[in-house]
Parts: sequence; structure tokens; C-alpha cells
Amino acid sequence: MRVALVGGGVIGGGWAGRLVENGVDVEIYDSHPEAERRVREMLANAERAWARLTLAPRTRGSVTFAASLPDAVRDADVVQESVPEDEALKRLLLGEITAHARPDALVCSSTSGLLPSRLQADVQGPERLLVGHPFNPVYLLPLVEVVAGQLTSEEAVGRAVSFYASLGMKPLVVRKEVDGFVADRLLEALWREALWLVHDDVATVEEIDDAIRYGPGLRWAQMGTFLTYRIAGGDEGMRHFLEQFGPALEWPWSKLTDVPELTDDLVGRIAQQSDAQAEGLSVRQLERLRDDNLVAILQALRARRYAAGELLYEHEARLFTVCAPREVEPDPSLPLRLHEAVVDPSWVDYNGHMTEARYGVEFGHATDAFLRHVGLDAEYLDGGHSAYTVETHIRYLREVAAFEPLAVETQVLGADSKRLHLFHTLVRRPSGETLATGEHLLLHVDTVQGRSTPWREPVAGRVAAAAAAHAELPVPEGAGRAIGMTASRVDA
Ligand code: NAD
Repeated sequence: MRVALVGGGVIGGGWAGRLVENGVDVEIYDSHPEAERRVREMLANAERAWARLTLAPRTRGSVTFAASLPDAVRDADVVQESVPEDEALKRLLLGEITAHARPDALVCSSTSGLLPSRLQADVQGPERLLVGHPFNPVYLLPLVEVVAGQLTSEEAVGRAVSFYASLGMKPLVVRKEVDGFVADRLLEALWREALWLVHDDVATVEEIDDAIRYGPGLRWAQMGTFLTYRIAGGDEGMRHFLEQFGPALEWPWSKLTDVPELTDDLVGRIAQQSDAQAEGLSVRQLERLRDDNLVAILQALRARRYAAGELLYEHEARLFTVCAPREVEPDPSLPLRLHEAVVDPSWVDYNGHMTEARYGVEFGHATDAFLRHVGLDAEYLDGGHSAYTVETHIRYLREVAAFEPLAVETQVLGADSKRLHLFHTLVRRPSGETLATGEHLLLHVDTVQGRSTPWREPVAGRVAAAAAAHAELPVPEGAGRAIGMTASRVDA
């Protein structure tokens, strides 16, 4: 799959991040001399965010910068246009794109609200042109509104939906072609009211943001307006809610479609309050703060398999199935290097070293990597079987600092019909110096019945083969160790 991006600003750079993190090769054309530097910064943000978001095996796509628009789009399967929101410019460039792209290439515009039927006016093959409207940051927010024009084919809509879904996104096909589509209409209504509240000196920009992020914003990340108000209606639900609060809509509290005039005074006031709110943080710093918070929210929702978290869970399950985690299969007769990581500064404690709990997390990831290696995948889990760790012994041998590259080497010490005995060695890369060891006993379980049960195929055979392949390896130093000091030796 090759994707061409025309326009590499906030949105084009964000698309590049999502595509590359999902293994797609991209070719970018942007006429600005600084575009490559800006896109590289976005790619670094995306890489950082995805490294935190998921441990699913992924191959990263490549990025090239084309010297001209025809060079960028010539071999592309999909072209995503993200130039400024100017209808004349977009029509001109979409005409050029469709003249040089393959006739079967899908052509999508990131426009926030221009009608696709109007964008189709000057293109060749308008049936393959549609809107794919994403949200910033594109590499983390899954929503993409898919809007067809009058001449767009159903086949093109279907292709766009599959393409975006393959990137872990949530394509929302908008039923009718309307200005602003769905999400931006809602956002614009809120934005208009926010401007009025500043204009009328009711609240500062920070107070308005607090009114969102401490309250409704937390709800919106997991349930939208309708489900939230259904609950607010109590046992009688939405009907009761509409009866109770419906009449108030007639008052009305809000300014509806009126827009405050953006006078120099109002613009100055908003800009000044916004500077104060940012507390000296640069836009890059704010982006990272935002990304870390979004990752944390997505992960919390993933644990509950709800809303965007359910999508992330499903996308990860697919990545575990489709991605070849390594280009070279490891030698099965040696300890297996299946998990690598770089120490994130947030794993470091007040002593300046990797915190004790993180060793357990990394060994847990290494165990998961071994289980995937022997075929314990999403389908096996869905079948009601898994392996639970029932005992662990960790030895902390060396201090580990932020940004150090690590690897875990896994040796199978034994396995029987229900159990698996693993020995992990955490090493520093590339020297191979031993930093810690973890010895673990796992039990195969029937997750529905909640009790141990023999391994099922194909995992059973692969566990046995891995144990046989390691049977002749020397028992590693430290295996079988318990705490060196016995409880009876502790003086009262
Ligand atoms: P931007 O100004 O950050 O980026 C536009 C890029 O297009 C720039 O890098 C510019 O150099 C490049 N460009 C301009 N003319 C060009 C040309 N002739 N050939 C090639 N490149 C050219 O804008 P943006 O925020 O990335 O918005 C791009 C599109 O995405 C718009 O249609 C916008 O409505 C839409 N969008 C924006 C957001 C958002 O939050 N910023 C969200 C969703 C959709």
C-alpha cells in the first residue's frame, strides 16, 4: 500500500504519523521549504505517542518527500489532500492530482467542511473522490468522517472505509452531504458560545476550558451527548429528559447562530488570556502534554473495552495477528529475544533509576511476547483459554537509567500439560550486560470455568517444542533462587 499526501501541515503531518505507525509507506508533497522539518517533528511526536499507546508488534512505514505533485501521486493507491481550507486552491490541486494519479487511485480530501460535490467539479474520475475528514492529532484520534459527493461511487466509499479502518480509525459515513459535516457542526456551536462568553465578560478562556475539562469533557470521551442525557433522564430515560428540559430550549440560553464580531479588542483579549493560560509552554510542549493525556485516556478506555478503547483493543488484536514481529525468526535453540524497549523517563523514580515495579512490567511484556510466539493469540483468548502467571521471582542486579535500550531473553526451563516455567534475563543493548532476571511459573487456564486445564492446540505443540529446544541449554545462574535471607533469621 502506497499513500501520497499532498500538503504536509498540521493535518498532512498527522496523517503521515498515523500511516507510518501502521506500516504504510508515504510520499509527501508540500510546496513550503520548511515542510520536511515540520513533518519530521510530527512524525517524532507520533512515534513517541504510539510507543506509549501500544506494545502490539508493528512495522513502521517509510517516508519520502517528493519534488513535485506528479512525482508524489503517480504510483499511489490512495492520495490524501490536506492543503489549506480554500476551495479554489483545493479544486485546482485536486484537478492536478487526478490528472497524474492512477485512474484507480482513491482521492480523499481532509477538508473540514467544504462540500465534496463542489470539489468534484474539476477532477478526472470524480467517482473516486470523497472527503475523509480527520481530527487533530490525526495519529491519535480515531474519528474520520467519510462524506461522498453526488458523483462518488459506493465502491469508493467502501474502499475508503476499509482503508481508514485498517489504520485503527473509526470511519463515520455521513449520510447527507452538508456543510461542516457532523462533528464540526457540533464543535462550531460550542466555539461560537465560547466566544460570546468571553465577549460578554462572563468567563475567561481558562474558565471556559475548565467548565469543559472538569465536567462534560470527561463524559464526552466515553459517551456522547445522547447516551449521557438518557442517563440524566433517570429511570424513564430520554423521553423524560426531553419532557423535562425540552421547554428550556425555547428560552433560549445560547446565542444560536449569532457570531460576536471579532474586533481588535476581542481578539486581543482572547489572545492575552490564552497566553496566560499556556503558562509559557510552547506549542510543541502542549502537543506532548495533550498526546500523553490522550494516550492515558485511550488506554483507560481500552482496559474497559469501551468506545475508542474498544477500537484500540480490536486494532491491537489485528496487529498481533497480521504483523510479523521480526524480520528474522529467532534461533529456537537459544534463549529467545522477543521483547525490546527503551527506558521511558516516566519509568524512573526519585533515585534516578528504573522503578522496581517496571521490571515486573517488562518481564510481563516478555512473557506476553513468548505466549504470542507460541500462538496464544486473540482467537485463542476468545476461545476461553489463557495462561496466568502464578509465581514470580525477580533479581535486581544493575541500575537502569532513562533512555537506555533494553532487551529480554527468554529461556524455557520446563513445561508440562498445564504449566510453563520461564526464565527472563533483562539485558542492556547492545552490550548484552545482564541487568535483572525474572523467573516465572505460568498455569494454563480455562477462563470461563476459572480453573486450570491442559494446553490446547496449536499452543500445546509449540510450548512442548520450545521446551524441547531449550532442554539442553545450561540452567541459567540464579534459576531456582528464593530470597537469600530466611524469615527465621530476622531478629526480633
Ligand atoms: P496547514 O496550514 O497547517 O497546512 C497546509 C499545508 O499545505 C502547508 O504545509 C502548506 O505549505 C501546504 N500547501 C499550501 N499550498 C500548497 C500547494 N499548492 N501544494 C502543496 N502544498 C501546499 O493546514 P491544516 O490545519 O493542516 O489543514 C489542512 C486541511 O485539513 C484543511 O482543509 C483543513 O480544513 C483540514 N483540517 C484541519 C484540521 C485542524 O484542526 N487543523 C482538522 C481537520 C481537518
